[in-house]
Amino acid sequence: MKIMFLGAPGAGKGTRAEKIAAALNIPQISTGEILRRAIKEQTPMGLKAQSYIESGALVPDDVVIEIVKERLAEADCANGYILDGFPRTIPQAEALEQFASLDCVIEVRVAKEIIVDRLSGRRYCPKCGHTTHIEWGEKVCAVCGGELIQRKDDAPESIRQRLAVYEEQTAPLIDFYHKKGILKVVSGMGKIEDGLKEIMQVLGC
Ligand code: ADP
Ligand code: ZN
Repeated sequence: MKIMFLGAPGAGKGTRAEKIAAALNIPQISTGEILRRAIKEQTPMGLKAQSYIESGALVPDDVVIEIVKERLAEADCANGYILDGFPRTIPQAEALEQFASLDCVIEVRVAKEIIVDRLSGRRYCPKCGHTTHIEWGEKVCAVCGGELIQRKDDAPESIRQRLAVYEEQTAPLIDFYHKKGILKVVSGMGKIEDGLKEIMQVLGC
């Protein structure tokens, strides 16, 4: 199955995408994670993306389109994939249609009021990419034992910027995919386990 997760920063799409990908045994393709890794390794792409990401802006379309195009050409994507964080603009969605298709777009919806809390309490393991929240009580990464840190773009100023960017550039995709008849809306508010059940249901799995 070819699935895309859509939602505001902090909606919980990454957490859900990770679990659903494991359950369906298909890869999770997170453009944010690919970019963070490139920054960590200081590759030319990472150097180009760094200032955009840290300020909460979007990385230019051509950069992320190329990342996804190359990644989807790999063998493990042949039976399906979950796109997490891409497309994020209408031009990205139009470009995607030139080289891949989607069966289903899952919009994870949350109340705006809780987003800032979620993002400011979020912690990240740079070693393996795992994300958690201070309320969940992990002292070190539950996956690899690595140190948990706060992402630079989870600072208050970047959070505000990311939410504005979402409203302006990404939210129009809701209508774009609704018109194509493949949009499903699920709640990002309740317990993760309930959220996963709801997603499996709308996917018909
Ligand atoms: P979140 O969903 O919490 O915002 P992501 O890991 O999806 O986190 O993205 C982090 C940052 O990576 C974004 O704010 C943006 O700068 C960059 N990024 C990720 N995906 C894209 C994309 N499709 N287009 C442009 N920039 C992107
Ligand atoms: Zn880890």
